[in-house]
Amino acid sequence: MKISFLGTGTSTGNPEIGCRCEVCTSSDKRDDRLRASVLVEIEGKRILIDCGPDFRMQMLRTLETEYFTQLDGVLLTHEHYDHVGGLDDLRTFCRNGALEVYAEDDVANAIRTRISYVFKEHKYPGIPNLNLNEIRNEPFFISGIKIIPVRLMHGQLPILGYRIGNFAYLTDLKTIPEEEYAKLENLDVLVINALRFEEHISHQTVENALQQIEKIKPQQAYLTHMSHHFGLHAVMEKKLPDNIFIAYDGLVV
Ligand SMILES: [Zn+2]
Ligand SMILES: [Zn+2]
Repeated sequence: MKISFLGTGTSTGNPEIGCRCEVCTSSDKRDDRLRASVLVEIEGKRILIDCGPDFRMQMLRTLETEYFTQLDGVLLTHEHYDHVGGLDDLRTFCRNGALEVYAEDDVANAIRTRISYVFKEHKYPGIPNLNLNEIRNEPFFISGIKIIPVRLMHGQLPILGYRIGNFAYLTDLKTIPEEEYAKLENLDVLVINALRFEEHISHQTVENALQQIEKIKPQQAYLTHMSHHFGLHAVMEKKLPDNIFIAYDGLVV
């Protein structure tokens, strides 16, 4: 399995527009973070998790090193713009027929409203051909690959993380319902959000993320969805335990 980090930043991305802090003005490329998303390649299939407003730039970068125009499915974690704002740019990946997109019903409904032109009966030529599949918190398959949704709480909002094989992608969570931890046993790679040090109403702090990793006990963990208040990559990476890494845009695991 190959996991490519397409974006590792919070909703604003780093640098934040107009910010002159040391992270936003850093010359270390690892401090430039597009909106959070990963591409998973497994058994010859490609599955995208989240499709934020930077998707176009992320794909231009990705296709420079590895050319493809086929995606087998798109998993959405929740409806916030930083996770779905690039859905219109999926049109390249719809040329061989409808692209399967998977989301819970409330997320699917939000998308039908947000980009309603995509789902009209009489479609404007060239728009993306998306087939929205409404999923529940139950395992399902994409082209033979088993996907296990994991309920997460983004503050008060129920959202989903996903487990594929021994990899799990959990972003934008503040808490995990106790009964969901059973789905997170024996992970090789856990990706989990760590926004910043200060408390936030709907996101984990760095300390919360480290506690979750301690509890879940994956072989390796990667932090994602960082804000500029997370600090400089080069400084922060020295403070983490041996099996916990800071993800950055372009990292392949
Ligand atoms: Zn987010
Ligand atoms: Zn800043």
